[in-house]
Amino acid sequence: MMKITVVGTGYVGLVTGVTLAEIGNNVICLDLDVSKIDMLKNCHTPIYEPGLEELMKKNVDRGNLWFTTNSTEAFEESEIIFIAVGTPSNQDGTANLYFVEQAAIDIGKHMKRRQVIVTKSTVPVGTNHYIKTIIQTHSNIEFDIVSNPEFLREGSAIYDTFYGDRIVIGAEKDETATIIANLYKPLSIPIYTTDIRSAEMIKYASNAFLATKISFINEIANLCEKVGANVEAVSYGMGLDQRIGNKFLQAGIGYGGSCFPKDTKALIQLAGNVQHEFELLKAVIAVNNQQPHLLVKKLQQRFSSLLHKNIAVLGLSFKPNTDDMREAASLVIIDELLKHGATVIAYDPVAIEQAKKCLPAEVVYTRSIQTTLMDADAAIIVTEWEEIKNINLHQYKALMKEAIIFDGRNCYSLPEAERADVEYYSVGRPAVVNATICP
Ligand code: NAD
Repeated sequence: MMKITVVGTGYVGLVTGVTLAEIGNNVICLDLDVSKIDMLKNCHTPIYEPGLEELMKKNVDRGNLWFTTNSTEAFEESEIIFIAVGTPSNQDGTANLYFVEQAAIDIGKHMKRRQVIVTKSTVPVGTNHYIKTIIQTHSNIEFDIVSNPEFLREGSAIYDTFYGDRIVIGAEKDETATIIANLYKPLSIPIYTTDIRSAEMIKYASNAFLATKISFINEIANLCEKVGANVEAVSYGMGLDQRIGNKFLQAGIGYGGSCFPKDTKALIQLAGNVQHEFELLKAVIAVNNQQPHLLVKKLQQRFSSLLHKNIAVLGLSFKPNTDDMREAASLVIIDELLKHGATVIAYDPVAIEQAKKCLPAEVVYTRSIQTTLMDADAAIIVTEWEEIKNINLHQYKALMKEAIIFDGRNCYSLPEAERADVEYYSVGRPAVVNATICP
């Protein structure tokens, strides 16, 4: 059993803290945000993440998980400190290290004994050594640093933490790597130990590769539309090749969220700092940026004008099972719809409160899919929540003025759309119009 402090209680910090408590450690989570810590002390999670609140309550009740805003209390007894603060994008795409720097200063000022300081935040190559120098300027106590990038996916964060594909540990000394490897031993996940710089790069390279797969299939989808092929069949046929694999090959309106957009930009900047133009990744971002606009273009082609058209937007979060709105495709799509004079009626199972903070005030929110669709001129599927995927296409027909659907996530098969006699436009597949599949 180790005494652990986690700095930052966002998606990564909170999930890390709860998991480490669950596998038998004493964990104290520190955050500057008083309202977040108040919620957590009352056993409510500030974020929506399936299974998290239950596991958190269980460990608070067992007496091995605490929350605080007080740094003295947080670092008093710790043996291992995890840094899990945000690293958002600067205007120029570089990673903003302000929160990491502040966390390092706080650690330097408050740590009381020899520690292992583990960075979970996604940080550019060299940052762990930078963190080391910051701490050294504020403390004479000896400590070791470890890079331990996080690979969890929002929406399945708890599952990923218990059943991840690998844990990467970058350390200067074998003994330090062993301490962290032992900490994770109960999870029985393969551990890969390497040097700190390579560990930092593994995180960026992994996200950049996954983003590349998505943009690649989206570019193929755009081409399929022009040559009359069906990207679903193409992606299935490609995925049968084990060298390619079938994951991350679903065409759609692009990736969003708090990681891929910022990490791809940060990697381009990182490369630029050493006079390396990462042309491939620049193209990946360019393709991703155009995907949501292409869907709106389809609407514009269908209706000569979007002025005063009621558009039902189904799904707002950047992906299902999360309330995270960071870089969600809905932001771009809704912004464009409003610019063209449309009225936007939006639904999301959990993200409405978050959405209200970042979408224009004109957006009308509803509490059910049925109300959203009622009298809409067109429906756009933006996020493939189970609840949204499971709406019977006949319901669109029953509720809308005319059942005209723009599916940004390819939730329905073309024969399904044909049988339901709806007008159906998706990504990289022929349109269904008058119950006929049109190339
Ligand atoms: P987040 O923005 O949800 O949470 C960060 C938290 O840190 C906030 O609650 C903030 O108040 C707190 N904080 C900031 N400075 C602090 C300080 N000095 N002391 C204490 N608390 C402080 O961020 P997140 O989504 O959890 O991401 C954290 C890091 O993990 C980022 O680098 C991100 O790139 C990386 N990451 C995120 C995910 C993900 O799915 N969200 C996955 C893998 C890696």
